[in-house]
Order: sequence, then C-alpha cells, then structure tokens
Amino acid sequence: MPITPDTKNWTWVLERPCAECGFDAATIGYRDVPELVRRNAAAWPAELARPGARDRPDDATWSTLEYAAHVRDVFRVFAGRLALMRADDSPAFADWDQDATALADDYAAQRPEAVAAELVSAAETVASAFEAVPDDELGRTGLRSDGSAFTIDSLARYFVHDPLHHLHDVRR
Ligand SMILES: [Zn+2]
Repeated sequence: MPITPDTKNWTWVLERPCAECGFDAATIGYRDVPELVRRNAAAWPAELARPGARDRPDDATWSTLEYAAHVRDVFRVFAGRLALMRADDSPAFADWDQDATALADDYAAQRPEAVAAELVSAAETVASAFEAVPDDELGRTGLRSDGSAFTIDSLARYFVHDPLHHLHDVRR
C-alpha cells in the first residue's frame, strides 16, 4: 500500500492536546517555539544515523529519512509563510502538498547526512525568524488556501507540533 496522502486538517492541535505525541499547544507560549525547534532539530541527526533510517516500517509509513526530509521542508515552508505575514497584510499562503513534494523531490533517495545538515540549518533559520518578531507583530494574520486563518502567534504554535510529532513518529 502506498503512502496515504495526508488530507487531515491539523489546526485542531491549537484547540486540544495531541493524543499521539502529547503535544499541548495550550501549554506552549510563542516565545518557547524557537527553543523547541532547536531542540527538536538537534535530535534528528542521531535518528538519521541509525541503520535502517532509509527503511519504511511498513509500506504505508514514511522512513525516518522521509520524515526528516519532510520536517526540513516544513521548516523552510513556515519560514516563508512567516516572512510573508510580516511583509504583507493578511497574505494567502501558496498551497503546499507535502505528499506530492515527497514524491517529486524523491525524499527516499536523498542522503541521510545531507538531510540532517539541511534540517538543522533550516531549523536555525526558522527559529531565528520567529525569535525576531516583536510582540506588537504577533497578531498579524495570514490565510491558508483552505480558509484556515492564523496569526503569527497561532502559526508558530501550530507549526511546532509538526516536527515534534514526527520525531515521536520515528522513535516509536
Ligand atoms: Zn502530535
């Protein structure tokens, strides 16, 4: 069975705890996010260095390598969305199909060491970008193509669930 495209709308993670990874957005402040990102990123190189990092646990589940490549791209995509929200008033985000990207960019064929380095670097970029936002800009808004509305504050807390959840995925 191939990977089932993820069409779930994950914005509920802002409303209630995630039963799978334990993330609870209500306990996380905006200013916690950069440190959470850096700590998360620091854990990935060891996961990617494990034998079997390229192997899928089953046909329908990404390998550690594929999850890591996805997390790297999440860091990049959200750095872009944040920049857009700071530059424009209520911008609409470009669509990002994470499953199409995984295939188009052939995540499974990328080199684990390269992905590890890129992930850590992308994490630092997005962590610094969130850190640099002054308090009086945290209410700036942006819209996803499905109509979900975010502020910079809610975007940060929504975003950080993704890398935390996937680190949980590869460790179980
Ligand atoms: Zn989760």
